[in-house]
Amino acid sequence: MFVACMTMIKEGTIIAVDGHSSTGKSTFAKLIASRYGLIYVDTGALYRGVALFASENSIIDCENRIDEQALNRALKVLKLLFRPTGPGGASELYLGDRNIEREIRTLEVSSKVSFIASLPIVRSFVDNILSNYGKSGGVIMDGRDIGTVVFPNADIKIFMTASAEVRAMRRFREMEAKGERPDYDKVLANVRERDYLDENREAAPLRRASDAILLDNSNMSIEDQLQWFEELIAKS
Ligand code: C5P
Repeated sequence: MFVACMTMIKEGTIIAVDGHSSTGKSTFAKLIASRYGLIYVDTGALYRGVALFASENSIIDCENRIDEQALNRALKVLKLLFRPTGPGGASELYLGDRNIEREIRTLEVSSKVSFIASLPIVRSFVDNILSNYGKSGGVIMDGRDIGTVVFPNADIKIFMTASAEVRAMRRFREMEAKGERPDYDKVLANVRERDYLDENREAAPLRRASDAILLDNSNMSIEDQLQWFEELIAKS
């Protein structure tokens, strides 16, 4: 499956993988992490964790109106952390002692998360957690603003994209594989809405950093993408 010869990545490297929703950033970043011995951090999971908490505690309502004061109080005590699930750097998100990895991936949370993520108080809560992961390096993070805001000096920056239809179909299949019965049009609408919200918010909008390398994977398999990455670091 993989190319035979592997270029080493220097110690302390930070790799930022930003891009649109459902471009397969996490699949790509997880594989790179296990292949090159890096820690993988799914930054979107943290925003999803905040959105789940807000939703369960009526801090965000069904029309995505947010009680910012209640959210502010909640963020002072909210404990989100990744716990390793086994070898290879894989981890799952916990809210206190509760594993929330599955709940944060529902369409319900997906429809709220970009509203939650647009708030500066939420962004600084998450950035705080991320800066700890970045201290010793040896990390690959995927998100929206890693190469532009969180780690503007990251050693390698990748900006991933694919057409909205391709991304919605990938998400649709993932949900089907989990036994859900998604509606493709709703999944596509959610992908487009999140793109719009992520690109147009004031706080840390989704942008391609000027030094980020573009990876449009609309017509690429995961093996193609790993090969592309291997070639990229062999050249750098
Ligand atoms: O990556 P994922 O789709 O799980 O992220 C969920 C949401 O969290 C995104 O749609 C985006 O609104 C927000 N996000 C963000 N900044 C990040 C990572 C995610 O605003 N670094």
